[in-house]
Amino acid sequence: MLPTDHLERVEGWGMAVSAAGYVFRPSTVDGIHSVLTTARRAGVPVVLRGAGRSYGDAALLAEAVVLDLTRMRRLLAFDPVTGVVDAEPGVTIRALWRSALGDGWWPPIVTGTMEPTLGGAVAMNVHGKNNWRRGPIGDHCLELDLLLPSGELRTLRPAAEPDLFSTQPDLFSAVIGGFGQLGVVTRVRLQLKKVRSGLVDVLAVSAPDLETMLRLADEAKDAWEYVVGWVDAFARGRRLGRGLLHFARHLEAGEDPAPTQTLRVENQDLPATIAGVVPKAVVWRFLKPFTNRPGMRLVNRVKYDLGRTVGEGARYRQPLAAFSYLLDYVPDWKHIYLPGGLIQHQSFVPAAAAERVFRRQLETCLKRHMPPFLAVLKRHRPDQFLMSHAVDGFSLALDLPVVPGRREALWALVRELAEPVVEAGGRFYPAKDAALPGELYRATFRSGELDRFRALKRKVDPEHLLRSRLADRLLGEPPW
Ligand SMILES: Cc1cc2nc3c(=O)[nH]c(=O)nc-3n(C[C@H](O)[C@H](O)[C@H](O)COP(=O)(O)OP(=O)(O)OC[C@H]3O[C@@H](n4cnc5c(N)ncnc54)[C@H](O)[C@@H]3O)c2cc1C
Repeated sequence: MLPTDHLERVEGWGMAVSAAGYVFRPSTVDGIHSVLTTARRAGVPVVLRGAGRSYGDAALLAEAVVLDLTRMRRLLAFDPVTGVVDAEPGVTIRALWRSALGDGWWPPIVTGTMEPTLGGAVAMNVHGKNNWRRGPIGDHCLELDLLLPSGELRTLRPAAEPDLFSTQPDLFSAVIGGFGQLGVVTRVRLQLKKVRSGLVDVLAVSAPDLETMLRLADEAKDAWEYVVGWVDAFARGRRLGRGLLHFARHLEAGEDPAPTQTLRVENQDLPATIAGVVPKAVVWRFLKPFTNRPGMRLVNRVKYDLGRTVGEGARYRQPLAAFSYLLDYVPDWKHIYLPGGLIQHQSFVPAAAAERVFRRQLETCLKRHMPPFLAVLKRHRPDQFLMSHAVDGFSLALDLPVVPGRREALWALVRELAEPVVEAGGRFYPAKDAALPGELYRATFRSGELDRFRALKRKVDPEHLLRSRLADRLLGEPPW
């Protein structure tokens, strides 16, 4: 019997999916071990959870033990000379950059929000706006401690020469991106990136259509550290896929006249008000009346028109935090999507097929009267992790509101969006997913890859103690 006072409802970040489970928040490795033992004795599966920033069902499972790792948040070691950091899994990207920036170090990969934990970031192998240049976070992990469901603690390092096709799959390359199915990451050793200034140099440009968006992003990928595009998903016809692109690079030594000042955390903090007057905490309430199709069409249009006119070709310097964590700018902005919440669909498509597939996706959304309220484009490169979601191509992330009563239609739309991705040899990102049919996810892997993941799972977790609703949906309900 598990203690009922641990029962809580936990939800995906998009608020569209939730489940009640027995939440435990240990603060030591021994504590994690004893939660695993308790769950095993009770015959209940365990779902691992970081900051709960995955959009969908990655960190929830009904009637399971929810092993919440946010209290494991100690920074264990940091060398300001080499930029190597050792951290517990509950340390957030926020805590990491705030600890390291004063010494001139920045996380090599950051997500659009600074709230994810390192454990969650590693388990999803997160990428940033610099995925083409720097790969995913796994490429910067020097070492991991992994607590296996058996209670054995293993230290994992990248293989000298990772070989996906060897008969001995490398646990390191499967745990990273293995969405918490192989063990609990209890320590991450990460190589941070040296920065000479707390500012980035930004260039903003507009693109009148999808073809131009993709071309500009592609042309910028080697010259700029960061490349990100916003797409007006309401535009149709020859304007389909139009949007704005932002390119950014770190300043070189000598370019910033006052690096000791710009590197100070105090000078990075996002302002608490907009235009010095409106408290940001209330901004989402002003946006709420626009959270419908006509309102969002207008917002997207105004944003594009402003970018195309006053913003065109703008070049400016911006604090690293403000550029990197744009999605933290308006607190609680996701509440505009209540009561239904939102889901996201992010697909990764090889460069040659991207225009065709994204065009079809945007047209399908419009045809079904479910246009994404936000659409974001990035450039990616492949990596060597077993469950990798990246390809040599582009990703398009679509934020879709969940309208009560139209849930089934939305889930059917996700299937329609996913089919051309599979045909084109693309991939999907589980961290953003809530609705992808498992057979489409499985169809994106090359022969043998999933078998190797499953073989590893059977070896380290034969009882399937670690599960999640996402894993059950994408990999199939155990036993397999
Ligand atoms: C606004 C917003 C913007 C985002 N932008 C990006 C982006 O730019 N790029 C990107 O790649 N992602 C992005 N994400 C997704 C986010 O980075 C991932 O979902 C990340 O995994 C969240 O980390 P978390 O700590 O919240 O983990 P959770 O969401 O709680 O869990 C994620 C997964 O990690 C597993 N897990 C958690 N802790 C551990 C552990 N210690 N050991 C093993 N497994 C564990 C869980 O079981 C689950 O499968 C964004 C999310 C939001 C909400």
